[in-house]
Amino acid sequence: MRQPRRTEHMVRYHREFSYKGKNRHSGFSFLCTQDGIPIKDAWGPEAQINWDKCNSGEYDVIDHGVEKEEWDYTHPATIDCNRCGTEITLHSSWANSCDKCGVEYNGSGQQLAPRSQWFEDTNECEADVLNNYDPEAIYQDADLESLSW
Ligand SMILES: [Zn+2]
Repeated sequence: MRQPRRTEHMVRYHREFSYKGKNRHSGFSFLCTQDGIPIKDAWGPEAQINWDKCNSGEYDVIDHGVEKEEWDYTHPATIDCNRCGTEITLHSSWANSCDKCGVEYNGSGQQLAPRSQWFEDTNECEADVLNNYDPEAIYQDADLESLSW
């Protein structure tokens, strides 16, 4: 299914604790609701133990309360492959290949010539192609990584 690229505003909340006398970010962060109610389904396996120790005073931590985190997440556009109909997510602005048949599309969903023809047909040298590479695409992937808890 074709879907345009769209940006979603994301908000989540954490209950934050940091170790006394240490860096503010050395400590614990627990996913919770706006009201500070723990969202334990989303926690990792160690979180319950740490949560208990933070709240019982076993850990020497400062309770920073609930903190709001906001960011914009851009969902890349998707298209259907012209050749085989497989859905392709346009992660990259310059080349996204179909998993099934290998046809490539740019970030606007326009079909690209086979790579073997790139430099001859377009007069582009490799440096030009690399300069067109969209670093945002990398950051989006990196965001996805760091968002898994
Ligand atoms: Zn295909």
